[in-house]
Amino acid sequence: MDTVRVRFAPSPTGFLHVGGARTALFNWLLARQQQGVFVLRIEDTDMARSTAASVEGILEGMRFLGMDWDEGPEQGGSFGPYLCSERLHLYREYADKLEAAGRAYPCFCTSEELDAMREAARAAKREPKYDGRCRHLTAEQRDEKRAAGRTSVLRFAANFDGQTIVDDQIRGRVVFDNRLLDDFVIFKTDGMPTYNFAVVIDDALMEISHVIRGEDHLSNTPKQIQLYEALGFAVPQFAHIPMILGPDKTRLSKRHGATSVTQFRDEGYLKEAMVNYLALLGWGYDDSQTVFSTEELIAKFALERVSKNPAVFDLKKLEWLNGVYVRDMDLDTLLSEAQPFFHRASLVDNPPTAEQTAAMRQVLAVLQPRLKRLDEIYQAASYFFQEVTEYDEKAARKGLLKPGSKEILTYLAERLAGLDGFDEEMLKPVFAAAMEQFQCKLGDVMQPVRVAVTGTNSSPSMYEVLPILGRDTTVGRLRNAVKFIEKNMVERST
Ligand code: GLU
Repeated sequence: MDTVRVRFAPSPTGFLHVGGARTALFNWLLARQQQGVFVLRIEDTDMARSTAASVEGILEGMRFLGMDWDEGPEQGGSFGPYLCSERLHLYREYADKLEAAGRAYPCFCTSEELDAMREAARAAKREPKYDGRCRHLTAEQRDEKRAAGRTSVLRFAANFDGQTIVDDQIRGRVVFDNRLLDDFVIFKTDGMPTYNFAVVIDDALMEISHVIRGEDHLSNTPKQIQLYEALGFAVPQFAHIPMILGPDKTRLSKRHGATSVTQFRDEGYLKEAMVNYLALLGWGYDDSQTVFSTEELIAKFALERVSKNPAVFDLKKLEWLNGVYVRDMDLDTLLSEAQPFFHRASLVDNPPTAEQTAAMRQVLAVLQPRLKRLDEIYQAASYFFQEVTEYDEKAARKGLLKPGSKEILTYLAERLAGLDGFDEEMLKPVFAAAMEQFQCKLGDVMQPVRVAVTGTNSSPSMYEVLPILGRDTTVGRLRNAVKFIEKNMVERST
């Protein structure tokens, strides 16, 4: 069997976003499954919009997701160069061939002429497409125009007869009427090839077997097929994957929040969860399975199971899935993933001291069952490392500034200060005694304690938190809370 050669061909005009990453992933999964080759090609022929920072951002996103490329930037390969801006001589060579064969011609129309042509077509209720007026210029006429200083683009002499059929691996058989095509531009006045031309030369010369890309390119495919045929190249298999929509069913964009892969990374989404979730945007194995390891995706992925329907990006589901991966991680791996987040919140140094590492480990063991995103650490871990200097307003109102809380906290501070050990075993009888003393439920005792030691009303169980904080810190915070209550009660009554 021929080797599967697939490619991801981003235009470096922004970061690697969810849609691009999903396209890359489907290609990558197929390549890994079929022991094929995954090519990364940077389509930077739009000089005005392409930036080096964007190339770097794309590579960074790819690396984060673990989608390694066999050929491409940094990696090299025998079909390079892999930056389109370094392949201009190739596009030129094939454009010359087309021109020599009478399948491409210079067009001297000015933009005013083209506008007028479109206007006239619209007025006559015809498709506003190029009418082919420069196709039949004689050599002398061309020379005259050049002598008069007219610049030209190069147009493809399209075939308007019959139909062009795309046998798409996802969409099925899609038939395009050739009459709807026009002599589209393949080289612009600035000497740059257009996307539709460059992509054909690149995919053909790089021997790409499967072109897997977004559905927005389906309408370009008949043009590209005509080019393949005119150049005598074998036509690859096409597979157009469905669009990704936001929850409001419009095309996913920045309006919907984070869309760049590195932004998700910075918000504490794990690589495995991202890969898993991206795979589910348009692909599924069966309805019962949601969690797939990357190895499993490689084994199970199939273009036949990619849906024709748009996929809706569901941030809640991604968050949930991330939580599943966080919980399944062994503590040391979680520690190394989480460390940058502790550091960013200024809770530990970089690198952390041995003591800080031990503290992070202890804290993570407690937080792990509750974390969905690692950036929750900023909030959820801070009280383990820093003094509680203020209380969440609502938590203070419900937990501290209500009758009885002051007495409960005063009582507990005293009793806890006398303990020699501070584990659950030792703590339980003290809380039981407080319930007894104040004739209340466990929650009534725990709630003020929680607010006092964490500043909030949401945290893991106090039996897990207090042993980490230790006796002196705990007692100190209970006493501070008592002072806070006294101060606020006084203010209230005056
Ligand atoms: N650079 C194009 C894009 O980012 C690639 C399209 C293709 O894969 O053919 O949309």
